[in-house]
Amino acid sequence: MRPRIFITRPLPAPTLDRLRAGCEVELNPEDRPVAPAQLAEICAERRIEGLVVCGARVTEQVVEAATYLRVVSNVGVGYDNVDVAACTRRRIPVTNTAGVLEETTADLAFALLMAAARRVAEGDRYVREGRWEQWQWSLLWGADIHHQTLGIYGLGSIGRAMARRGRGFCMGILYHSRRRADAAVEAELGATLVDRDTLFHESDFVSLHVPLTPETHHLVAARELSLMKPTAFLINTARGKVVDEEALAAALESGRIAGAGLDVFENEPRVHPALPGLPNVVLAPHIGSATLATRSRMAALAAENLLAALAGRRPPNVVNPEVFS
Ligand code: NAP
Repeated sequence: MRPRIFITRPLPAPTLDRLRAGCEVELNPEDRPVAPAQLAEICAERRIEGLVVCGARVTEQVVEAATYLRVVSNVGVGYDNVDVAACTRRRIPVTNTAGVLEETTADLAFALLMAAARRVAEGDRYVREGRWEQWQWSLLWGADIHHQTLGIYGLGSIGRAMARRGRGFCMGILYHSRRRADAAVEAELGATLVDRDTLFHESDFVSLHVPLTPETHHLVAARELSLMKPTAFLINTARGKVVDEEALAAALESGRIAGAGLDVFENEPRVHPALPGLPNVVLAPHIGSATLATRSRMAALAAENLLAALAGRRPPNVVNPEVFS
């Protein structure tokens, strides 16, 4: 009998065709999250063996209810939405889509950096609102990007892609990460390892690229913001909870830092009520990997991971490899 799988959101037709060729596919046809309680019920009642998870939470409750579950394939590189420990206890592999979205996400991070520094969103609003009456010497002065210092927090795949973009703008690159990068990587990126405080203190732009874990929760709070230059910008395309949003809103409001570019928020889709009213922050609705080409590759890779696991093979992108030992 073909394995029964559930997909938590509509995916591109080629991916669905591929999955339907090997599995009994059930899916949520709406581009909205399936709540954990509902997902648990579906998994239990429909005897779901494989889950393709796109923006849904796979909690311990889901894992416990899903007694037939054999794989959780997450469409995304960050997997803080999945209780990996609960899956590992049941020897269920969890997979992600690392390797296909780094460049696109770094593009968005750099776009936010540029938009915040050069006041692109403010300028757009200024023109649209009919406020532009004449060329003015002092209109919307921003901050230089070239030859400034870019501080990367988390020099993984996206952090390195961000550093390459910074190099292209003749920026100096500092980084702080859990481990030191290879000498060859440091040389290629022109990147210098510094401690946490130095990163915040010396960077003109701090860009966050760590996963959300208990260690990285509120990694940037009032103390870190107080270390930053008043002319500096914070860019967050990692996860909202990595930043204390209340402290960030206060720092932006008081001018403690110059600005920010944010793609992710602590309680998505809600944003801190102060942020939309502040001119020095550029806001994006979690669209880091949102291009047709990249989303298509993510969906295809998620299908490949799922099919491999259901066929008893080790998937290419397993995040809890200990389940195979
Ligand atoms: P990655 O390749 O795993 O890189 C993460 C880096 O952070 C690694 O170098 C890691 O070190 C480092 N790190 C982990 N914990 C740390 C800590 N406590 N202190 C310092 N460094 C730490 O992941 P990635 O592909 O670059 O993605 C990073 C994150 O971006 C994802 O987890 C996801 O949450 C987010 N993301 C967001 C979007 C979006 O749409 N906005 C899109 C894609 C990804 P080790 O090498 O030692 O593990």
